[in-house]
Amino acid sequence: LKGDNSSLSSAEKEIEKALRPLSFDDFAGQDKVLDNLKVFVTAAKQREEALDHVLLHGPPGLGKTTLSNIVANELKSNIKITSGPVLDKPSDLAGLLTNLQPYDVLFIDEIHRLNPIVEEYLYSAMEDYKIDILLDSGPNARSVQISLNPFTLIGATTRAGLLTSPLRARFGINCRLEYYDSALLSSIVKRSSHILGTNISEEGAFEIARRSRGTPRIANNFLRRTRDFAQVKGDGHITVEIAEMALAALDVDQNGLDEMDNRILSTIIEKFKGGPVGLSTIATACGEEAETIEEVYEPFLIKEGFLKRTSRGREATERAYVHLGIVPRYRTGE
Ligand code: ATP
Repeated sequence: LKGDNSSLSSAEKEIEKALRPLSFDDFAGQDKVLDNLKVFVTAAKQREEALDHVLLHGPPGLGKTTLSNIVANELKSNIKITSGPVLDKPSDLAGLLTNLQPYDVLFIDEIHRLNPIVEEYLYSAMEDYKIDILLDSGPNARSVQISLNPFTLIGATTRAGLLTSPLRARFGINCRLEYYDSALLSSIVKRSSHILGTNISEEGAFEIARRSRGTPRIANNFLRRTRDFAQVKGDGHITVEIAEMALAALDVDQNGLDEMDNRILSTIIEKFKGGPVGLSTIATACGEEAETIEEVYEPFLIKEGFLKRTSRGREATERAYVHLGIVPRYRTGE
């Protein structure tokens, strides 16, 4: 639900595709990032140069892939999409790079997970549009240099901190995507319902928006599920009551926290006296990968003030206690 869309059926993927904004004008929010990108894209087009390489970072589902497609559309270029873990050997990367047309976009998702050997090949490609390819092996081994067409690499990552400094230094444009506020998400939900041909009330859209963890992918997903409830349990129209019924059925609470968010908070409070406690200990106790907690759950819990990250580990805040209806130990004098 949160990390990616790999669990969607093909029909749902089609719907997701239809909901994707295709131009800068369709894309809601992220004003600063968008304003800057518009300038850089226009300048590159005017100079007939490739757009400088772009690093997009931020939590999953905020529109990194969408934005990359939009940049390619606005450049009137093609986009090739791949991801860090898929590029196993340098030849995988070389195959992609040598097939790029001038000013094309190469999108590498999860760029922090590139194999270091592949990553090294990327350096000269990014810097000079050249790669060295090794021919033969053993005593006959020799390398030839191949010139590439000028291209733009767009790297996306949820973990900018894990990028090596040589790679990070090669991105001329660095954009951080932020969580969306409820008003913006509400406009995204209304736009999506319009595309899906579903009638939705202002309050219904806002209810979905405010409980979607600031994330358009989650908002669109809740909208699709709410639409199902409206169809089966109502008259097809999404009202605030239908939205509340659907979100309750999906275990999304009043603050937009789901079952795992609540499990993380209650584990820290009930098993570890509110913390501080290390990430891997929390992960084991909750039965979730540490990486997923760190990338997907924690940023939102921190942003909303339920969790604090300290040098000694994670700590539940007062808001977390209030949310779970638990009285802190220091208050009870235990
Ligand atoms: P990941 O890094 O996990 O791939 P992402 O940040 O690339 O996630 P996208 O796949 O681009 O996220 O976006 C998820 C969905 O949210 C898309 O289907 C798109 O329809 C919608 N979406 C994202 N951003 C916006 C936006 N600003 N306006 C409208 N819809 C958006």
